[in-house]
Amino acid sequence: MANELPKTYDPSAVEDKLYQFWNDSGFFNAEVDENKKPFTIVIPPPNVTGQLHMGHAFDETLQDILIRTKRMQGYSALWMPGTDHAGIATQIKVEENLRVNEGKTRYDLGREEFLKRVWDWKHQYGNRIISQLKKLGSSCDWRRERFTMDEGCSKAVKEVFVNLYEKGLIYKGSRIINWCPHCATALSDAEVEYETQPGKLWHIKYPIKDSDEYLVVATTRPETFMGDTGVAVNPNDERYKHLVGKTCILPIMNREIPIFADDYVDMEFGTGCVKTTPCHDPNDFEMGQRHNLEQILVFNEDATVNENGGKYQDLDRYECRKAVLRDLEEGGYLVKTEDHEHNVGTCYRCGTTVEPMTSAQWFVKMAPLAKPAMDVVHDGRVKFVPGRFANTYLRWMENVHDWCISRQLWWGHRIPAYYCEDCGEMTVAKEDVTVCPKCGGTHIHQEEDVLDTWFSSALWPFSTLGWPEKTRELDYFYPTSVLVTGYDIIFFWVARMIFSGMEQMHEEPFKTVYIHGLVRDAQGRKMSKSLGNGIDPLEIIEQYGADALRFTLVTGNSPGNDMRFSTEKVEASRNFANKIWNASRFIQMNLTIDNAELPADLALEDKWILHKYNELVKAVTENIDKYELGIAVQKLYDFIWDNFCDWYIEIVKPRLQNHDDVAANERAQKVLCYVLRGTMQLLHPFMPFITESIWQALPHEGPSIMVSKWPEYQTELCFAAEAEQVETMMDTIRAIRARRAEMNVPPSKRAQVILLTDERAAYEAGILFFSKLAYASEVIFADAMPENADSMVSVVTKGATAYMPMGELIDFEKERERLNKEKAKVQKDLDFVNKKLNNPGFVAKAPAAVVEQEREKVAKLEELMAKLDASLAALK
Ligand SMILES: [Zn+2]
Ligand SMILES: [Zn+2]
Repeated sequence: MANELPKTYDPSAVEDKLYQFWNDSGFFNAEVDENKKPFTIVIPPPNVTGQLHMGHAFDETLQDILIRTKRMQGYSALWMPGTDHAGIATQIKVEENLRVNEGKTRYDLGREEFLKRVWDWKHQYGNRIISQLKKLGSSCDWRRERFTMDEGCSKAVKEVFVNLYEKGLIYKGSRIINWCPHCATALSDAEVEYETQPGKLWHIKYPIKDSDEYLVVATTRPETFMGDTGVAVNPNDERYKHLVGKTCILPIMNREIPIFADDYVDMEFGTGCVKTTPCHDPNDFEMGQRHNLEQILVFNEDATVNENGGKYQDLDRYECRKAVLRDLEEGGYLVKTEDHEHNVGTCYRCGTTVEPMTSAQWFVKMAPLAKPAMDVVHDGRVKFVPGRFANTYLRWMENVHDWCISRQLWWGHRIPAYYCEDCGEMTVAKEDVTVCPKCGGTHIHQEEDVLDTWFSSALWPFSTLGWPEKTRELDYFYPTSVLVTGYDIIFFWVARMIFSGMEQMHEEPFKTVYIHGLVRDAQGRKMSKSLGNGIDPLEIIEQYGADALRFTLVTGNSPGNDMRFSTEKVEASRNFANKIWNASRFIQMNLTIDNAELPADLALEDKWILHKYNELVKAVTENIDKYELGIAVQKLYDFIWDNFCDWYIEIVKPRLQNHDDVAANERAQKVLCYVLRGTMQLLHPFMPFITESIWQALPHEGPSIMVSKWPEYQTELCFAAEAEQVETMMDTIRAIRARRAEMNVPPSKRAQVILLTDERAAYEAGILFFSKLAYASEVIFADAMPENADSMVSVVTKGATAYMPMGELIDFEKERERLNKEKAKVQKDLDFVNKKLNNPGFVAKAPAAVVEQEREKVAKLEELMAKLDASLAALK
């Protein structure tokens, strides 16, 4: 016989112990097993320096639910864990630390020493997030934990880089990129966030050479005008046709620049003339390429003006703007200033306005890679859940630009390109190059830049399984089954994993992308540091238990949609856990059996609950298969709370407490145990800890619920007719209970129930339910409406009409007295409010909203009074 369950459920007393037990028993481990089907999830690797926040908790809970379900369903279920080195985020943290504690910058330390510090930091804090994931109950195969900069992942990165370079899919070129002057690094398109900002549109005169004519250009960014190398007009613009091919003079700089025609120019915008700054605007860059314009870069990396900026050299870009405008105005070149809202790109990390700049960077050529990555979504080999995100993905892929992968950071995978200082040769190689293959020189230095952190996470589904080695794991677990992630990183990560998987493995990295939303606060706001509205999942776990947190995160959720989180919801989840605990404890205390095999002869109510349970098994399994976790958990909740606890346990209590009929007693025990045990198995993926505690206390086989066999639908448990019969009766009972509650009749007050029904046999079988749950003193079957029906309370349901003598439900005299007392109280309130409203001073002075409130009060009180009068009338 199992251990007795303690009186109350204390999550903090059991969670760590159970987790330890599971982990020590090897239940999280997944092996290559040809007798089982694989089911694989790779974790979205959290930042190694990160701390668990609610977004992680949500993401991990969903993954753990899927992996625990599949494990119980007999799959070799691998949840591959690991962390990401998170280039820029980590480097900034360590630099900040260095600044605060030692007053130094990374340059004071030098690259090698600085990287040593970052590794130290990683070793010190890198396990924090892992231990936090464990608190949540995450059942990852921890033996296989990986890091994006570990030896294997680094090998994979070099392999892919060299492979793409050799195919001509990686190139180094001067291209326009998004530059963050604060982080001092290039950013990919996906790392730029756009926001609408108020700004100005300045109209500036550019004189035509050898003429009195001039053009007026409109610009939002006068500070880049020193880099102008042309003025563009639309070829169809009649206003300017005669000027195309001529030259104008850049004011102040006194440089001659060509006027040219390009379809890109919008005739309707501004003046229809566009100053063209190829080095500082992506569209101008493209025009510059088409028309062979000169490239003049005017900013340094910190967005101060460089030597090409003439008199503005060394000014910050915003000071430069002021100075330029002042000079233009003084020179008579500033024609007009208009207000103008525009879209400004900002760094996703620090919020600084990015500066588009041409720069020598490394790029991945995207067009050839995008095609197979789109095909695989078009033809359904990769499915998005919900489907609408496939369009988001495809739209982005269709318009994808080459991916800028070099970052001017120190922490990350250093680009494996080597330059010969003797002959200038560049060699890209997997192994370190020490001798120049061209001239034999040995003065070699490696590229300083590192790769975008997403370059290594793009390889995560196969690098973690051992690629480029041909491992058994790779063969067995790849392609992975499902990727669970938020919609905010579809471009950063999902897209790049798909094209990397297609290119390197020639197979999709995962079959399904399950997209979830964000966790917002109770008011629907994003949780953020600046709002201070973040809720720490670890504090919630400490206070309410991991199960309550997990249950809250999944309840009411549907794929792709944001959820609102509040502690009230967690309290409700905790209450649900307590409800389960109390019911289980009640059952366990009444147990004398040591197995829960179903008996042959079942009572009507047994058949009903088994039927409902069997349906639940089917529905929950199907919902989980369709990623409808919120629906699955709601069905479990309803079944446990309503069908099982509130009805079935109540119905069988008399059998359980009757020790004379041992057979009936044991049958009740067995059905209770059977259904509770199966329900705990279905609930286990959602609430792993409490379900294990209960399962261990019931008759069971095997060491743990988490490796027990997932319940299956059984045709022999289908009792549709009997179930319907019970449901019909329950309708009548529910109606009686509702009416009694309306009339304030306490359960202790029993009353005769007279039933008028066509289904007498069915109701006769359930007389017990009426005495137990409808508080019937006696059940009488009638063939016609009782003669004294007008002194009875009646309820009508599909199966029957039930009558109860009014006199048995209430004590007339007492009830009249109670109602009159109630009436007096309401009258007093009514008089008080009316007196206020009849006071002209109050109505005149009080705010309209307050007066309105008082009027509403009157209406409510009058309504109540009418009800009380009606009740009194009914007593006569
Ligand atoms: Zn930045
Ligand atoms: Zn050389």
